[in-house]
Amino acid sequence: KLHIIPFSKHGINRTQISPCALKTAHVLQKAGFSAFIVGGAVRDLLLGLKPKDFDIATNATPEQARSLFRRSRIIGRRFRLLHVMCGNETVEVSTFRGPLPDSDTPTEVKTYTDQHGRLLRDNVFGSQEEDAVRRDFTLNALFYDPFSEEIYDYLDGYNDLKAQTLRMIGDPVTRYREDPVRMLRAVRLAAKLQMQIDPSTAKPIGDLAPLLQNVPPARLLDEMLKLLLSGHALSCVVDLRQRGLHHGLLPMLDVILEQPLGERFITLALKNTDDRIQQGKHVSPAFLFASLLWHEVLATWNSYKNSGENPLTALYRAIDDVLSNQQKNLAIPRRFSATITEIWSMQPRFESRAGRKPFRLVSHPRIRAAYDFMLLRCESGEISQELAIWWTDFMSADTDTRQKMIPKP
Ligand code: ATP
Ligand code: MG
Repeated sequence: KLHIIPFSKHGINRTQISPCALKTAHVLQKAGFSAFIVGGAVRDLLLGLKPKDFDIATNATPEQARSLFRRSRIIGRRFRLLHVMCGNETVEVSTFRGPLPDSDTPTEVKTYTDQHGRLLRDNVFGSQEEDAVRRDFTLNALFYDPFSEEIYDYLDGYNDLKAQTLRMIGDPVTRYREDPVRMLRAVRLAAKLQMQIDPSTAKPIGDLAPLLQNVPPARLLDEMLKLLLSGHALSCVVDLRQRGLHHGLLPMLDVILEQPLGERFITLALKNTDDRIQQGKHVSPAFLFASLLWHEVLATWNSYKNSGENPLTALYRAIDDVLSNQQKNLAIPRRFSATITEIWSMQPRFESRAGRKPFRLVSHPRIRAAYDFMLLRCESGEISQELAIWWTDFMSADTDTRQKMIPKP
């Protein structure tokens, strides 16, 4: 079953591996252990993409591996692994994982999975082949030995990769139950790698989508950030929606996307984000969440205003409602929610152009983000384009010109 693919066939050279990963693999092999580059890095190199990071898989235990590296530490509780540092690079070293004990015994089911079949522990060590089998997709289960320059392929992942097919290892339903986040990974990787999801891998996703409710919010946030900052956020979100996966991740996203203005706003925001990422620019997650939830804020704000609430009080109540609703599903960290609140609550201030108000607004520390956000609102047709033009002029003008731009009372 094991295929060993030689350099002459796959063409990946050891010079394409980061120095830190190369050195770490070398130290492990010299000490008599096996050490392979594994997962996303092998996949990305085969596809001609630049790997984000290099992970190493070995038969050394975390303790054995740690004793070989001065700058290293064991991390993780549910899944223990070793971080090896060289310079400012960190390489993750994980020990081959084995299969879980037979889950026919009810006590073991209790220990290793929750009542929905979700894996709770994953620290049973195993062989290289067993490690391949517990990974998610076949093309993520390739092992590259940087010294022999061979690829070890137990699951025909090389052919799937060449055929541009994302295929779940094992029975897709069982694997999604073990870890529902794999559904999000399928969507994200298909968009990033521009591949088809194999039909039997794609099919259960619609039915199993509700299992995502059961994933800890912090883990969902991690995965959502990876997805939104992948450079393919727009196609991912469209795909999530088609597969019914957006419920509980971004509540009301479907309602928002059905309103023409809301759809336009979110599409523009995601498109901007993807462009920035692809140009290597920074994207603020807070700005992104502020965009995705803005039309929910608008709707809530309107209903408070309609019930006679003072507009500003109504806005703050709406912001509170929307953010606390999100906390239940995605654990949006405090530092994000503070920025999100500022971006939203500054929006009405762009409407008043009299007296000292515009001067106070431009000196606000978050003016840049709030201004960019206001531009999106104009571009989506929510507010008048004239506002964008005036503020763009005002922001770039000197003090004298600014003074002259203020409308006379
Ligand atoms: P990226 O380009 O986003 O880093 P990746 O595939 O490298 O993609 P990681 O989260 O870095 O994603 O995971 C590294 C490897 O660990 C994967 O390639 C896969 O083999 C395995 N893996 C990650 N998440 C899961 C999961 N939920 N279930 C099973 N295996 C997983
Ligand atoms: Mg990775």
